[in-house]
Amino acid sequence: MDHLSVRKDILGHVRRVVVKLGSSVVTTENGLDRKMMKNLAHDIHEMRNAGKEFIIVSSGAIAAGVRRLGLKEGARTIPQKQAAASIGQSRLMSAYDEAFGRYDIRVGQLLLTRDDLTHRQRYLNARNTLMTLLAWGVVPIINENDTVVVDEIKLGDNDNLSALVAVLASADLLITLTDIEGLMDCDPRVNCDACLIPVVEDITPELKGLAGGTSSGVGRGGMASKLEAASKARMSGVPMIITRGKVENVIVRTLSGELCGTLILPAKEKMSARKSWIRYNLRPEGALRVDSGAAKALTHGGKSLLPIGIIDVEGSFDDGAAVDVIDQNDNKIAVGLVNYSSEEMKRIVGRQTAEIDWVLGYRRYDEAIHADNLVVL
Ligand code: GLU
Repeated sequence: MDHLSVRKDILGHVRRVVVKLGSSVVTTENGLDRKMMKNLAHDIHEMRNAGKEFIIVSSGAIAAGVRRLGLKEGARTIPQKQAAASIGQSRLMSAYDEAFGRYDIRVGQLLLTRDDLTHRQRYLNARNTLMTLLAWGVVPIINENDTVVVDEIKLGDNDNLSALVAVLASADLLITLTDIEGLMDCDPRVNCDACLIPVVEDITPELKGLAGGTSSGVGRGGMASKLEAASKARMSGVPMIITRGKVENVIVRTLSGELCGTLILPAKEKMSARKSWIRYNLRPEGALRVDSGAAKALTHGGKSLLPIGIIDVEGSFDDGAAVDVIDQNDNKIAVGLVNYSSEEMKRIVGRQTAEIDWVLGYRRYDEAIHADNLVVL
């Protein structure tokens, strides 16, 4: 199949779409880009009439706040960024409300933090809210809750957030609107013969090498973070299109299968939503070193990790925490949720399952990590 047919084929199955807008798309030098928002609302209105559902992940709070305050040097410190976001976020929502209001479409704001996506219950709550908004015909507009998170606990950039949202919402497509055409085969800033890569089947190291830093200076993401997001989305079965945002009818054209931007195909084998959550939303709090037999059983046999295969326990964690699984060559081979705390684990490493009872005085589980809670990398 040629790449346009591949595109049409994928787009033919799309119903729920996450659209991510970068700060450079949402703002101009003078503030929010209301013309772009009007165009976006028009397209979304049209596509909703064709049966599609939309969730927006929008950056631009900090940039809009900075422009509103007329801060010539931008927001530099963390408190300045947070304060700018608090001014910009409400302006951002009011502009979206106005743009979508023309089409009688209501919008709802969701401000998320990393914790909302890390805690399973909060994750599921966020999902329920999203699903309710969609069922009511509302367009949810999501951003990171910039005013309360500091760098250490930040999700980072909205590229990452949009991929996590696409998985959370079981979306069929993620469209990332940015300030360049898509993924190019060389840097367009230094080579005017740069050509658009229309379709990407896998995120290879070569492809990562092509991705530079942020292109416009506003917003946090660059092509590298878009590829990181793409790899999360595609592994979870969500295709992604990266394309220029400030183009007339970009959403209608993209969804109709026109050659807009780069299409990144989903992986052939899709990871379950739960495994995707374990792999991409959780931050490992420790590590288990395993022997070669256990490493093989995990990577080739799809087995659970038993205490007998563990050689060493690193870090301090509670039961239920995410940990890395490392082989004897120091390779990270899996990540999973542990059934025992680090203290308990240290006492049962290398033990037969039947020995857990008399070492600990109880045995909650046979496995250190059950196969259902283990993601092999
Ligand atoms: N959350 C930030 C904002 O709204 C943007 C983060 C990003 O650019 O990825 O300003």
